[in-house]
Amino acid sequence: MAIPGSGLSRDEVLSQLDAMKAHDVRWRDGRAFTLAYNAGDEVVALAEEAYRRFSTENALNTDAFPSLRRVQADVVGIVGSWLEAGEDGAGFMTTGGTESILMAVKAARERGRAERGVTSPNVVLPTSAHAAFEKGCAYFGLESRRIAVRDDWRADPDAMADAVDENTVLLVGSAPQYPQGVVDPITEIAAIAAERDVNCHVDACMGGVTLTYLARLGHDIPAWNFSVPGVTSISVDLHKFGYTAKGASVIMHRSKRLRSFQTFVTDNWLGGFYGSSGVLGTKSGGAMAAAWAVLHHLGDEGYLRLTAAARRACDQLADAIEATPELRLRARPEATLLSFGASDPDALDVFAVADALWRRGWYLDRQGPPPSLHCTVNAVHDGRIDAFVADLRASIDEVLAARSTGDQGAYGTVE
Ligand SMILES: *Cc1c(COP(=O)(O)O)cnc(C)c1O
Repeated sequence: MAIPGSGLSRDEVLSQLDAMKAHDVRWRDGRAFTLAYNAGDEVVALAEEAYRRFSTENALNTDAFPSLRRVQADVVGIVGSWLEAGEDGAGFMTTGGTESILMAVKAARERGRAERGVTSPNVVLPTSAHAAFEKGCAYFGLESRRIAVRDDWRADPDAMADAVDENTVLLVGSAPQYPQGVVDPITEIAAIAAERDVNCHVDACMGGVTLTYLARLGHDIPAWNFSVPGVTSISVDLHKFGYTAKGASVIMHRSKRLRSFQTFVTDNWLGGFYGSSGVLGTKSGGAMAAAWAVLHHLGDEGYLRLTAAARRACDQLADAIEATPELRLRARPEATLLSFGASDPDALDVFAVADALWRRGWYLDRQGPPPSLHCTVNAVHDGRIDAFVADLRASIDEVLAARSTGDQGAYGTVE
């Protein structure tokens, strides 16, 4: 499609964009169990307004935009307090979980090189750790040593310890891990890292907000944050359970010294001194301002309420799946994610169930191995689980009657 010779009106372009959304998943109605989060129209509108006011402001240079230095310091300060980061904790805002994880991998590589002269670095991580670690290893030239998880889907610290050698620069645990929604034994993983004085990253992209507030609500949560000795960095996505606009995550390091391995500086060109904290150069202030706005608007009370709602819905869904003979819940959710497969995979194709659900307007992640469907349950789903479970039942019956099969699809796509 070519650019129009003479420009279209504002109304015309906006109505064309709106029309393009016609077949998108209806996340505002709680139809998406992945990819989008909704704390209500008012919060969405606030995030959009804050984003609009800072969309052209550029976080590449906070001398020109001291507002964004302040925004970042405030947001990182709040997340640091959730993580029990302490006085010396230091972080940056990034554009998402992937960028936070890329920076954790890069910082570990730089530290290994600087302190121990490691030139062929490796990362020891469970098979459940997010695909972004694979991306980081591929981008930055590290070997990814994937270690099988235990029968309960949690990382296996003994097997991880066996895989560590003098070239290991990073161990990884997740709180919770994405595929089955369980929290890895962070204390044990961090102890292995501490013993060898190498980095240990906790991927709390999903759980950073939720686990913090579940603990305050009285849930029994295994230790996962900087209170655990040996944890050197943690990632927390605000554009997930922080309920803010896309493009906001925090990577927090235990100390300024550890953070220093993340940053990049050069003067090896004709444009002068250039420093940046993350992958991007020019960086919109929009997502940063939206995060600041939503955090301050919701406050502790808002996050307690939203976390309780998401957890209630998640428990209700887990109960319903356990009560469905054709399905098998992979694990009781420890945060607000769960996955399930077929009790008899030869009799029921869960990807065909996902197809039937999508025809009814519901969007779930498809994953494996083993073939499973995955739900990220957020506050918008509270009060909507009954409707979903009814359509899940109907979809299973339809697939069993037709003996249909489906495709695995993808969590992330390339087009
Ligand atoms: C979402 C997620 C990521 C990746 O974050 P993006 O924001 O999609 O880049 C990494 N780890 C976990 C556990 C996640 O849930």
